[in-house]
Amino acid sequence: MDKIAVLTSGGDAPGMNAAIRAVVRTAGFYQLGVIGIMRGFHGLIHDEFIELHPRSVADVIHRGGTILKSARSTEFLTPEGQAQAVKNLRNAGVEGLVIIGGDGSFRGGMRLQSAGINVIGVPATIDNDIPCTDYSIGFDTTVNTVVEAINKIRDTATSHERIYVVEVMGRHSGHIALYAGLAGGAETVLVPEVDADLDDLCRRIVGGYELGKAHSIVIVAEGVGGDFQTGRNMEESSAFQIGDYVKEKTGFETRVTVLGHIQRGGNPSAQDRIIASRLGARAVELLKEGHGGHMVGVVHTDIKATPLEDALNQQKQVDLEFHRLAHILASQ
Ligand code: ATP
Repeated sequence: MDKIAVLTSGGDAPGMNAAIRAVVRTAGFYQLGVIGIMRGFHGLIHDEFIELHPRSVADVIHRGGTILKSARSTEFLTPEGQAQAVKNLRNAGVEGLVIIGGDGSFRGGMRLQSAGINVIGVPATIDNDIPCTDYSIGFDTTVNTVVEAINKIRDTATSHERIYVVEVMGRHSGHIALYAGLAGGAETVLVPEVDADLDDLCRRIVGGYELGKAHSIVIVAEGVGGDFQTGRNMEESSAFQIGDYVKEKTGFETRVTVLGHIQRGGNPSAQDRIIASRLGARAVELLKEGHGGHMVGVVHTDIKATPLEDALNQQKQVDLEFHRLAHILASQ
């Protein structure tokens, strides 16, 4: 093997640049050439290839986002798009590809693997919803960003003795909400994996007030759905519906904050830089050893490779012990 390529795909995540750097420099160490593909699968189809050298990735380890840009490509979902991508890779002399992204990107990677290009997936998504890895690149930074926001909201919540409902990202999973809720000392964490009981939530808020608590912070994962019968437009975020419900039932002043895209950006945390460096380097070593069709992941403290097919046939579960613990610690 003489040449590999690397791309980032799906939603950007802090630490993607550290992973690109690790891929390029590990390849340099083993004297492999590296092509960077701009804009994920879109750039793969449209030949947006650039040469990367160890110096090309100087000064990026601390930057959020991705220097290779990211995009979603509907063209790549078609057999024609995939055939064009394979053709472009072969024309460029690329024998192995590192895909830094989420499960959708790995599904795309499996198509390329079937066409004979060795692919290794590096999990990067703030949602941490990829199976077979304890952590995805970007998750730790996002949790820290959310905790910092909770700290700030807490100051106002305490000063004004209010209830704050804070909506966090995570799509269909509650990993961000659970980690940030536990680390931020939230009174309640609502996640899609556990049916929301708003009357219980209100009882807990009133109970907290009776214990002398000056405020309550309720963390709601964006994937929490349901008809909470508040008369609000169902298209609207659940957090607003929950806020209305709590206000009406408890009579406490309630505010809602949707943190939104500030959760995606920012300098990657030390942990994200470290796992990105380890995963990126291992991906290159696997390609060099002739492997493909796998993703690399952090399992306990080790870096392990799992067949992409196995990983994509599973669903990552949230740790409900976090849910139980957050509620125990907030109930006293
Ligand atoms: P994130 O978790 O941040 O959303 P992701 O990798 O899951 O990241 P997707 O938008 O789901 O993001 O996928 C990225 C791209 O991967 C898509 O735009 C598409 O080009 C390709 N892709 C997704 N699913 C498939 C599939 N089943 N077959 C081929 N390509 C796919």
